Amino acid sequence: MEAIRHIDEIRQTVDKLKKQGKTVGFVPTMGALHEGHLSLFRLAQQRADEVIVSIYVNPEQFGPGEDFDEYPRSLDEDLALCSEEGIAAVFVPTDDVMYPGKRFLRIEVDELNDHMDGKSRPGFFEGILLVVNKLFNIVKPDIAVFGQKDIQQFRILEQMVTEFNHDVELIMGPIKRANDGLAMSSRNAYLKEDQRRRAPGLYRSLRYVKQQILDGATNIGLLLDHQKKELEAKGFEIDYLEVFSFDRVAPAGEVTSGNKYILAGAVYLGETRLIDNLIVET
Ligand code: AMP
Repeated sequence: MEAIRHIDEIRQTVDKLKKQGKTVGFVPTMGALHEGHLSLFRLAQQRADEVIVSIYVNPEQFGPGEDFDEYPRSLDEDLALCSEEGIAAVFVPTDDVMYPGKRFLRIEVDELNDHMDGKSRPGFFEGILLVVNKLFNIVKPDIAVFGQKDIQQFRILEQMVTEFNHDVELIMGPIKRANDGLAMSSRNAYLKEDQRRRAPGLYRSLRYVKQQILDGATNIGLLLDHQKKELEAKGFEIDYLEVFSFDRVAPAGEVTSGNKYILAGAVYLGETRLIDNLIVET
């Protein structure tokens, strides 16, 4: 398996695969790979002949005061995992490769950015859109797999593919969880032992609320307030815990039958921000 640093080289690698008549799947990551990433690689391998992975901690999607410097980096282990998983090539660009020179253009995200993580992290999705747009133009994959874990990202990227006419099919991979239910994340490495023990509380709250909704609860606001208080009592600081419409990623005033919603939460345990979500189809 090749680790490739330059754009012309990754293009040649992809061209070679396509000339052999192979379809190419792509999974962009920021590295510090865990089972969640590997589950996306395997899904991509089911849907394409060969899979390319990128590992790049994209500075453009980190705000001031966020964890760009501390973000876990483990390139040697990551490359070994990719090799074990039968990944065809790993694109590992440097900042100079991705962002050479001054830029005169920027991408703006409209309404889909107004709530959830877009609201809490200004510039986050613009940074993601920029880098994924570039990666799609570099790799030109037939399919690309992203995780439900970052569901607003998925919705915004779907919109990017449609509005900018990218010739790629997006596939959403389910959230891979630890045995106790905690959604796997590279940032879980930040959690201290007692925080790690408490961390699955977010998933438990989401599951409880989902069940209540499916059982016909109508006062969702009250239900969410109650869960927020319970989480706060367990030491979580709440960013949001909310039901959003699936398409618009906007808070759903009420839940009506025959619709699709995202029940999502973002919380802090100490400095560590955890996100999780469940899709609710009524
Ligand atoms: P990241 O390296 O955090 O940028 O994530 C790279 C990709 O892996 C994104 O599409 C994420 O949504 C996805 N991902 C992260 N955590 C998980 C998980 N626990 N299960 C499935 N996919 C995940």
